Amino acid sequence: MIAGLKHVHHQGHQGPKGLLIAVAVVLASIAQPHAQTTTVSKTRQHVTALASERLEGRLAGSNGEKLASDYLVAELRRIGAKPLPGATDFLLPFEFTAGTKDGGSTATITDTRSNANRPFTARTDVQALSFSDNADATGAVVFAGYGIVVPEAQNFGYDSYATLDVKDKIVLVLRYFPEDADIKTKGILARYADLRYKAMAARQRGAKALLVVAGPHSPNAGETIPMSFDTALSGSGIVAASISGTVADAMFAAFGDPGKTLAAAQKSLDDANPHVAGFAIPSVTVTVHTNVVREKRTGHNVAGYLPASVPATGVDKPWIALGAHYDHLGHGENGNSLADKADTGRIHYGADDNASGSAAVLAVGEAMASRPRHRNIELAFWSGEELGLIGSTAYVNKPTVPLDQLAAYLNFDMVGRMQDNKLTVQATGSSPAWGRLLEQANIAAGFDLLIQADPYQPTDVASFNQASVPSLNFFTGTHTDYHRPSDTADKIDYEDLDRVVEFATAIVGRVGDTVQAPTFTKVEQTTESGSGRAGVRLFTGTIPDYSTEVKGLLLSGVIGGGPAEQAGLQKGDIIVEIAGQTIANIYDYTYALEVLKIGEPAKVVYLRNGARREATLTPAARK
Ligand SMILES: [Zn+2]
Repeated sequence: MIAGLKHVHHQGHQGPKGLLIAVAVVLASIAQPHAQTTTVSKTRQHVTALASERLEGRLAGSNGEKLASDYLVAELRRIGAKPLPGATDFLLPFEFTAGTKDGGSTATITDTRSNANRPFTARTDVQALSFSDNADATGAVVFAGYGIVVPEAQNFGYDSYATLDVKDKIVLVLRYFPEDADIKTKGILARYADLRYKAMAARQRGAKALLVVAGPHSPNAGETIPMSFDTALSGSGIVAASISGTVADAMFAAFGDPGKTLAAAQKSLDDANPHVAGFAIPSVTVTVHTNVVREKRTGHNVAGYLPASVPATGVDKPWIALGAHYDHLGHGENGNSLADKADTGRIHYGADDNASGSAAVLAVGEAMASRPRHRNIELAFWSGEELGLIGSTAYVNKPTVPLDQLAAYLNFDMVGRMQDNKLTVQATGSSPAWGRLLEQANIAAGFDLLIQADPYQPTDVASFNQASVPSLNFFTGTHTDYHRPSDTADKIDYEDLDRVVEFATAIVGRVGDTVQAPTFTKVEQTTESGSGRAGVRLFTGTIPDYSTEVKGLLLSGVIGGGPAEQAGLQKGDIIVEIAGQTIANIYDYTYALEVLKIGEPAKVVYLRNGARREATLTPAARK
C-alpha cells in the first residue's frame, strides 16, 4: 500500500524540500487504507470492450470511434474524473481529411485551327490526383517525357525539362520512369518519379497544370490513376490529373503524323537517354477542370482529469498527463493495414494497438483516483494517431491545459504483448530525471527494461516531446499481428499488462509527490522527420508539423544546435522558399533537401506571424 511513498521516504538524495511526504502518508492512511490491494484490474474488460466487433476497429471519425469514446467517457465518469478545466465535455473534437474522391474532373481538347472541342468527362478518361488544387487551367500542351528532374547534387544528369519552356503551359508527362533502363538507373529515376515530385517540378517551372498518362509500354497502360488516401486538408498548389491513353492519343493526333504518337514518344525515352527532349504539341489547347472532394471529418480526443486531492503549495507544474491513442485502422481502408490479401477489408480489432494502452491509462487513473494526489492528473485518449498523430498534434497545438503546466507526459502504445519480461521505455532522453526514476520503480516491478532515449517515436509521445514536455512512452514490442485483423483481445497478456499499469502508477506517484517537476532536455534528432527517402544525407535540424494545414512548411520546432536553430528559425515559422525553390508542403521540402549542399549557405524565406522574413541556413552533414 502506497509503496511508492514509503520508498520515497527513505531516499535522501532528492532532499526533504522536494517531497511532500508527511501530508501524503497521513491523508492516505485516513482515506483509503487498503485501496490498492482491493482494486481488481479492469484491463481485460477495457481491452475486450474496445477491441470488440461492435467498435469495428475504431477508425478516426467513424461510428466505431464514437462508440469507443462513449466507453471511455463512461469509464472516466466511473472513476471520478471531471472534464478538463474550461471544457464542458470529455470530448475534444478536431477536423481532418478522412478521404478524397473525384467530384467530376474534366479535360477538353480544343483544336485551335477549327475551334472544335472534344470533352472528356468519364473517370476512366480523366481523374484528378488526390493532391491537386481545385481549379480550371487552359493552355497549350507541352509533352515533357517522364517529367523527372534528378537534382544536380546526384551527379546523374537527367532533367525532362532541360530544353523546354513550360511557363503557363499544360504539361503532359508519362507516369513512372523509363522502362528499359538498367536497374541502377531505374533505381535513381524511380526516386524522383513520385507523382508529388513530378507535380512540384512542373509547378516550379511555371506550368499551369500537370497531366499524367501511363504510357502503352508501362504498367497500367492507358489507365487513369485511382485516387489515393491523402490527409492534407487542401491542394498542393497546382492542377494535377491523370488522363487515359485515349485522351493523350487525341492530343497527339493534332500532329497529323502517324509517326508522332505517344507510343513512339515513350519508346524514344525508355532507354533513359537523358538527351531525348520533350516537345510542344501544336494546334491544340487543353482545358483541365479538377474537382477533388476532400471528405472532412471530425475526430474526437477524449480527456478528463482527477483533481489534486492534496493541493500543495510550491508545486511548480501542477499537472501530470497520461495518454494513449484509442483509434485504430477500422477495416484497413486507409492503406496502413498489413493484412494478407485474404483478410483485406476485415475488422482490424487493434487489441494491442492500442486498446491495451487505453486500458492502461484508465487503470492507472483508477489506481490514482483512490490515492492522495499533489498534482492534477490528466487522462487523455487520442484519435487519429494511425493517420499521422493527428489527434495529439491538434491537442498540442491548442492545449486545454497549458503545456508548461505539465510536469510530465506518459504515453502508452502497444503494451499488451510482453515477451520475455521485456518492457521498452522510450523518450527517456526528454528528461535527466527519468533514468533514476525508472530504476527505482523497477525495483518492485522487476522488468527487463529496454531504455531508449530517442523521443522521436512514431506515436503520440513525439507530439509532447516537441512541445518540450518531459515524456515517456511504454511499449512491449511489435509482433506478427501488428496492423492485422489478428490483433485480437484473446492474445493480450493481461497479467503483464497489469504489471505495466502498476509500474506506471508508481512513476506517476513519484512524479506527483515531488515538488520539483522533471526538467526537459531537447534530444538531437538523428533521423530527420519527413526525409525518409534514401540518399538524403544532409541535416537541417527542422521539425516539420505534419498535421496543421498551411501553404508552406510549418515548423513544430527546431533541433537544438542544428542549422535551422542557428539560422534563427523557430517553432511556428512557415518556410515558403528554400534555395530558390518554392515550398508549398512537406513533399516540396523533402525534395528541396536534395538540392541543398552540405556546408553551402542557402537562402530560406519564411513567414513569422504573417511577416515575410529571410534567413541563411547552412545544412550540415548527417551523422
Ligand atoms: Zn498502429
